[in-house]
Amino acid sequence: MSMRVVVFLGPPGAGKGTQARELAREWGLAHVATGDMLREAIAAATALGRQAKTYYDRGELVPDDVVIGMLGERLQQPDAADGVILDGFPRTIAQAEALERLLKDLGQDLDRVVFFDVSEPELLRRLTARRALEGRADDSEATVRNRLKVYATQTEPLLSYYRDRSRLVTVGGEGSVDAIRGAIRQALAG
Ligand code: AMP
Repeated sequence: MSMRVVVFLGPPGAGKGTQARELAREWGLAHVATGDMLREAIAAATALGRQAKTYYDRGELVPDDVVIGMLGERLQQPDAADGVILDGFPRTIAQAEALERLLKDLGQDLDRVVFFDVSEPELLRRLTARRALEGRADDSEATVRNRLKVYATQTEPLLSYYRDRSRLVTVGGEGSVDAIRGAIRQALAG
């Protein structure tokens, strides 16, 4: 795997985090998950966390400028220089455009966007299970429904954005964790 900048794209519950954690280790890339970064900032009640909390709790997107600023700083950390898997970013067209600029400034380019294709009933099933296991505050039923709606309206347009730029590969996101991991490896090797 000679990729340096890979985006994992898909709805909440699609399995991006599980796969990104493992494959980042395997490929020697940094795992950059904006949701994890926001949860840490909220838990630590930093200025950024306080800005993000009301949006996060409702399952809304945190404003672009806040998340873009946070990501821009993260990409300048030394461990990101060898390459990154971006998990949960970009989520809007404005974020995708900002990412292009940020990478250009760093002399890098986006290699591939892996879209995790999972049906809505399966997403609901997984998110409900995750609520029981991890107790994530934004996995409550009303918030989950809102996050899926936000995904459909604000994030799904990125599929054609990246298809038009010949960056998109699609992976079936249902099946065992190992089978999906194999499909991702294969999609990026081809
Ligand atoms: P995640 O863990 O990726 O599902 O993200 C959890 C929550 O964090 C989302 O529902 C948003 O409130 C916020 N969030 C994470 N990434 C972003 C992003 N790229 N843009 C805006 N909000 C985000």
